Amino acid sequence: MTEVPTIELNDGSRIPQLGFGVFQIEPDETADAVKQALEIGYRHIDTAEMYQNEKGVGEGIRNSGISRGDVFITSKLNNGYHTPEDARRAFEETLKALAFDGDDNYVDLFLIHWPLPTLYDGDFVSTWKTLEEFKKDGRARSIGVSNFQVAHLQRLAEETDTVPAVNQIEVHPYFANNEVRAYGKEHGIATEAWSPIAQGKVLDDPVVTRIAESTGKSPAQVVLRWHIQRGDIVFPKSVTPQRIKDNFALFDFELGGEDFDAISALDKGEDGRIGPNPDTFDYIPS
Ligand code: NDP
Repeated sequence: MTEVPTIELNDGSRIPQLGFGVFQIEPDETADAVKQALEIGYRHIDTAEMYQNEKGVGEGIRNSGISRGDVFITSKLNNGYHTPEDARRAFEETLKALAFDGDDNYVDLFLIHWPLPTLYDGDFVSTWKTLEEFKKDGRARSIGVSNFQVAHLQRLAEETDTVPAVNQIEVHPYFANNEVRAYGKEHGIATEAWSPIAQGKVLDDPVVTRIAESTGKSPAQVVLRWHIQRGDIVFPKSVTPQRIKDNFALFDFELGGEDFDAISALDKGEDGRIGPNPDTFDYIPS
């Protein structure tokens, strides 16, 4: 079976560089999708309270027969729960939904999903300090953030004691997000690239299709391989069995320098974003 490289986080834990994302997978389809991914060899699942499918993630892992300890699970705090009291309650709900018992009752990584700097009086610092509690009591092995801009990370550095283990941000060939990645690299924060194939939008780009043809790989494999060679952590989402398989087959080829650079040159800066801007995003699910 394919060996997925692991990346060491700043707290000493290791995370598989390739995982399986479950955003927009229906709650009642999640257990099957997760089980399928685990059978193919994935050992890292990225979910969130907002996706409403944490229960399916737990079920899928149990149905696969693979030990809890062999799977890296990430979840994220929902936007409506940033006050310390709500965050504590929401985190307990996450563990309850995953439904592992005893020593298996933990997440490998828990993130603040969005900084929401225009809400909560701009206070994501007390939210972060609440996540520090979860790490301290061992129910979250690692803690990190998502969609944090450089200014947000600098504020955490000034006002708290824990450097986030990861920052999960939008990254794909049309939006390389290099400034935030560079800050992370300099400060020991691993970058996780969300929507790594831009939800499919980058797959018919002529540069990508040309490289796919010349390497004999699919456009998605070429783009995912580009992320792997940049050193980021990725977890493409799919509910299509063949794609789940293809997206895992990234370790038997390498992009040459010219192909790698040609994909990097597709960056459109801010114009390439497909998701919301974290500086202004203020969505609270009802
Ligand atoms: P992706 O870039 O992973 O793209 C998913 C889409 O591409 C789906 O429509 C899927 O279709 C299609 N697809 C997948 N594989 C292939 C393939 N090999 N060939 C062609 N099409 C393919 O987008 P996501 O937004 O889902 O991002 C991945 C993960 O990142 C999420 O699941 C989530 O875990 C995380 N994320 C985090 C965010 C955050 O704010 N922290 C925001 C967004 C995502 P189909 O399923 O029909 O096969």
